[in-house]
Amino acid sequence: MSSPIESWTAPPPLEKLDHERIAALLGQYAPVQLVIPVAQLAAGDRAALADLVEAGRWIDRIFWKQRSPAGSQLSELVLDHKRRLPTDLRRLLRLNFGPWNGFDRDRPFLGTEPRPSGGGLYPPDLTRAKLERYLREHPSERQAFVSRTSVIEEESGRLRAIPYSDAYRQELAQIRHSLIAASEKATDTGFRRFLRARAEGLASGELHGSEALWINDVQDSPIDVAIGPYEVYDDDRMGLKAAYESTVLVRHSARALDQLEQIAPEVERLMPGALTSAGGRRRIVMGVYDVVHVAGLTNMGGKAVAATLPNDEDIRTHVGARLLLFRNVIAAKFGPIVKQIAGRVLRADQLQFVREDAFLEHTLLHESAHALGTCFVWRQGVVTKTTINEALGERYSSIDECRADLVAMVYLDLLTRRGVFPSQMRSVAAITFVANLMRSLRFGVGDAYSEGAAITFSHLLKCGGVALEADGRLAVDVEATHRGLGQLAARVQAIATTGDYAAAGELCGELTTIPPEVHRLLKRLDGIPIDLEFVFEDQPD
Ligand SMILES: [Zn+2]
Repeated sequence: MSSPIESWTAPPPLEKLDHERIAALLGQYAPVQLVIPVAQLAAGDRAALADLVEAGRWIDRIFWKQRSPAGSQLSELVLDHKRRLPTDLRRLLRLNFGPWNGFDRDRPFLGTEPRPSGGGLYPPDLTRAKLERYLREHPSERQAFVSRTSVIEEESGRLRAIPYSDAYRQELAQIRHSLIAASEKATDTGFRRFLRARAEGLASGELHGSEALWINDVQDSPIDVAIGPYEVYDDDRMGLKAAYESTVLVRHSARALDQLEQIAPEVERLMPGALTSAGGRRRIVMGVYDVVHVAGLTNMGGKAVAATLPNDEDIRTHVGARLLLFRNVIAAKFGPIVKQIAGRVLRADQLQFVREDAFLEHTLLHESAHALGTCFVWRQGVVTKTTINEALGERYSSIDECRADLVAMVYLDLLTRRGVFPSQMRSVAAITFVANLMRSLRFGVGDAYSEGAAITFSHLLKCGGVALEADGRLAVDVEATHRGLGQLAARVQAIATTGDYAAAGELCGELTTIPPEVHRLLKRLDGIPIDLEFVFEDQPD
């Protein structure tokens, strides 16, 4: 490996550090302390949580290695407190698992070397074409090479696929040890069984059995963990290899999800395909949680407010999935981000209507819309085998983010009209939603959230839901907003359900151009954090 990143085995030239730039980049994150709500937990579960957090620390070490070829050295540098790395640099390296800004397409913030594409998962010069040629010559090795859970290495000119269970053997042995320790202390029988199966599964690479147990046996446990290689989006070389992550959770029992289920058929009648009824969809087990620790991919860049896991198509089809909603993370984004944004862009008398409960409910419903909507294209009311993702191609992500936002608003409004929420929620939901759209618009060109928000925002400007006042602030017309959102929701859901690629293009072309006045509004948001930095209770500096 010829990249100068390898020279990172030595400490970087600290005297050349641009502390101002580092401070500006750290300013993109609002620090939030994640607390373990110990009072509500049995002693056994509390002790098990400590073991799960320890497993997460080893997940971090694997992810450092996956993120770059010099990841091991980099993580040692960051974790070794005797090296006395400046605290600001240490924080920023940790937030990005390396010297590249995850909020800016991995541009380097230290030195000039871009992150090697594909990180530590491939040899540096292995292109897709070269891999395809190799696989044509060695067809029996295809499965091992394209596996989500193997690293590709080159040794004296010969390519080899190394299963994760071998590549990360040492770390996985530690993780196994911690999960088994947790299984001996946790209170819930199903969770204990899952932890034992997951410990063995992660170590051996046989993940299916433990994933099925996680979906079927764990949902009542007061504590939980999503741990393993799941998402492939950090593999910017080929989009094949899954990154390790871990999220340690405490179950939140305060909220009844049953009400959502009761109203789902009504949403489905208004927008076919939006929230397929329980009988018509694969099994999704929903739950609301507080996050107490995250590691690996889930602790990099923007923090997830929910997860639908696992991703494995086979498990999804035959067993189902779990939708985990992270209540404390959603709440943490409200004060330092959404409320601040509202303060700078909304008409002063509407600020009081920007409320955390509306942001929370909308986010929960947005995630439900992702998880519960149809994934397959319907033709004349018949479900085909084509996924909406395939049909809409590169337009899919923006359309789906836009769709989830809109379905959630229609859903929230129905819940209010059925008396689940007090009637004031109509105004609160509409005005909070507009502030939240401004938050998404900031993610920038090319981002799916931003493009989805641009479609909705432009529509609201056109239909009179939102108007710019003389001083450049936004005023929300609550009734016009709900009406406009309802119309756009039906249109976007129909595009998704029918997999109409051309109509998706028309919608994007028609509505993703944001007027210059709105761009000026976005400039007012400079200095407000984009996302969160988690600070754990017992984390050194
Ligand atoms: Zn979404």
